[in-house]
Order: sequence, then C-alpha cells, then structure tokens
Amino acid sequence: MKRTAHAFDALALPEFAAGSVWLVGAGPGDPGLLSVLALHALTHADAVVHDALVDPRILALARSTAAIEYAGKRGGKPSATQPAISGRLVRLARDGKRVLRLKGGDPFVFGRGGEEALALVAARIPFRIVPGVTAGIGGLAYAGIPVTHRDTNEAVTFVTGHNTSGEVPDHLDWAALAKGSPVIVLYMALKHLGVIRKRLIDAGRRPDEPLAVVSEAATPRQRVVVTTLGRAVEAAAAAGLAPPAIIVLGEVVRLRAGLDWLGLAEGKELDPDPLRLGRDAS
Ligand code: SAH
Repeated sequence: MKRTAHAFDALALPEFAAGSVWLVGAGPGDPGLLSVLALHALTHADAVVHDALVDPRILALARSTAAIEYAGKRGGKPSATQPAISGRLVRLARDGKRVLRLKGGDPFVFGRGGEEALALVAARIPFRIVPGVTAGIGGLAYAGIPVTHRDTNEAVTFVTGHNTSGEVPDHLDWAALAKGSPVIVLYMALKHLGVIRKRLIDAGRRPDEPLAVVSEAATPRQRVVVTTLGRAVEAAAAAGLAPPAIIVLGEVVRLRAGLDWLGLAEGKELDPDPLRLGRDAS
C-alpha cells in the first residue's frame, strides 16, 4: 500500500472550484461529526453562508480569510428571505468565490437544500451536495436512542411539526402515520406538540407510549427528557426545553436506558436489557 504524506491527499478530494457553491451539512453540533468533505470545504471556502443551527465551533474551523455570513431563519417564521439567500449564493459565485452554504444537520432533510440547489441550477452555477448527519438520526444517537432496532421497529418516519407558514402540516395523513409507523421522529415540533399529540392519540397511539425530547443534541448543552406521549407537552415545559429539539415517539426510546453512552461516561449505570419493561407491559 502506498502511503501519502498527508491523509487528505490519499482521499483525492474534489477541487472546490472558484465560482461554485457547495451545499454542505454540518451535522447536529459536535464538530467531530463533520464529514471529510465538509472539513475540506471549510478550509477552502472564500465565503461561508450559514444558518442559525450551525455550531460556532464548526464556523471556527473556516479558513481565517473566509467571509462568514449569517443567512438563517429562526424557527417557524415565514421564509420570505429564501429567494434572498439563493440570490446571495448566486451573486457570490458569480463574483468568483468558492461559496460554502453550510446548514445544520443534512441539507436535504427539512433544510431547503433542494430549493437552493434548484436556484443554482436556474442560474447555471456549478454546485455539489455534501450530506450531513441529520438531527433525527445522529442527534438521537447522542441521546442513546437508535431510530431502528430489530426487536422494536421495521420502519421509521421523519415528520416536520410545522410547514412553511408555521402550522402543523394539515395535508399529512396523521391517522395513517399513527397506524403505520412504529417510530415517528419529529423535527420542528416542540411548539405544536400539543396538537400533534392529540392527532396521534385520536388516531390510536397509546398515551403511555414512550417519547423522548432531545434539545441541542450533540452539543455541550444537550438535554434529554424521556416521558410518554400523553405527558410530553407538560414534561418538556417543566424541564424548560427550548428549540432546537428533536422528538421521537416509539418503543426505541426505551433503549436509552441501555444505550446512553454519554451518560455511561458520566458514571450512569446502563441496563443491558432495556426493552424488558416494554415486554412486561404488553
Ligand atoms: N437539516 C436539519 C433539520 C433542519 S429543521 C437536519 O438534518 O438535522 C430544524 C429542526 O431540526 C429543529 O427544529 C430540530 O427539530 C432539528 N434539529 C436540528 N439540529 C438539532 C440539534 N442539534 N438538536 C436537536 N434538534 C435539532
């Protein structure tokens, strides 16, 4: 095997060409979850256009000469600025910059990455998509909750708790979801959790089904509340949890008792048979 002086050389990473835009997922928080391509983009970009969810520790990795611009939208507000953001990316690329559009999590998961990329297509700007670790998978993993587990679920559904006008999406078939998806992962849902709870319970989900709320997952401020569907709103409020928060409903939540690896590092005792309680109940 031929060894290269620098590990990055061996990866033969694509060139970040001047006048192009890379739409990159930064993951949920922990800079260690950046992909090699994301790090490559950070160290080569002339301009970094980021949204509110990108961790400051990640922005600190950008080249010292890079211009850092905030182009975020705060949760739930109508996104009147979306054309402005796309326009800004086009302008920077036409100015010959290497433009890094950095988004929290994965750019194609409730991140409007597709819209921005289509604007680049319309403007004939070359672009690349760099997927990231999405909060609904990696963020939950930092809470010790797998989105699938052989003994609990053979499907998982990712749902947004509000649409572009900030309302609970109405054209979603909540009854079908409640019936068909053993695990439901909710993004942007803290504000409307009461409405969502009602729809799911009306459609037959048990109020005592386990639910977890994980706020600021994969950051030093991560907080996890394990509760039930029936008590979720009150439990999240009592704990003072604030967005960004990812919510998961389903038996997989019980696995945290066995898989909270961050808790283990702090001395928590883990249960090697965390599904026992669920088995006893059924
Ligand atoms: N593209 C992002 C999602 C953007 S939508 C991704 O793939 O993760 C914004 C929502 O993502 C938030 O309201 C929250 O539900 C979730 N989210 C993003 N980062 C998070 C984090 N660090 N902790 C908890 N939830 C997060």
